[in-house]
Amino acid sequence: MNCEMCDEPTAGYLCPACELDTADRLERLPEMFDDVAGLGVRGRALEATRRGSRPAFSPTPDLTPMAIRWGFNILPSWHRVLAEDSGWPMQHTGFGLGSEDERILGACIALRASAAWIAAEWPAAGAFAEEVRDLFDDVRQVLRLPDLPRRMGPCPAKHDGVLCGAPLRLPRGQQVIRCAWCEATYPPGVWSALRLAQRDLGKAS
Ligand SMILES: [Zn+2]
Ligand SMILES: [Zn+2]
Repeated sequence: MNCEMCDEPTAGYLCPACELDTADRLERLPEMFDDVAGLGVRGRALEATRRGSRPAFSPTPDLTPMAIRWGFNILPSWHRVLAEDSGWPMQHTGFGLGSEDERILGACIALRASAAWIAAEWPAAGAFAEEVRDLFDDVRQVLRLPDLPRRMGPCPAKHDGVLCGAPLRLPRGQQVIRCAWCEATYPPGVWSALRLAQRDLGKAS
């Protein structure tokens, strides 16, 4: 099969990188949900560009944070579908019985905890992951946060003969990959050599 997000060949519905990105987004969303509550500055959301034909937020400034928060309601819906499809009881994770906010946060935690099963087993994984990405992108644009860094594979640097192997990430808008673990740097000129070295790692393991 191919990954339903990025089309890379994979064993399940999502490749490992898209599974991890989805889990990362679900990990960050609760904090972003809180930050949205602090919004309300006139016109702030309207400055964030809208993509394609997605509906614009209300031009009434006071309604803007509510409109953005409303988007989070996809999470309890997906949580319910996951519970039905997996046959697991709804995990309440300490939330879920109280207010709407608690249902949203509880769903976020439960969905993130199920990311591996979702990627491997859930036919709805692609649609789910795309909606999570769209929500994340909408909210981070309004909050003016950068996108997730790109995953660039394992660090092939060796130190005293020991492989680093830490996951490399390239923050959006930057040109040089810098290993957070061993501080090896990879400017764009060496990326093809980097890919070759990573392929050799794959053969060795
Ligand atoms: Zn993928
Ligand atoms: Zn490294």
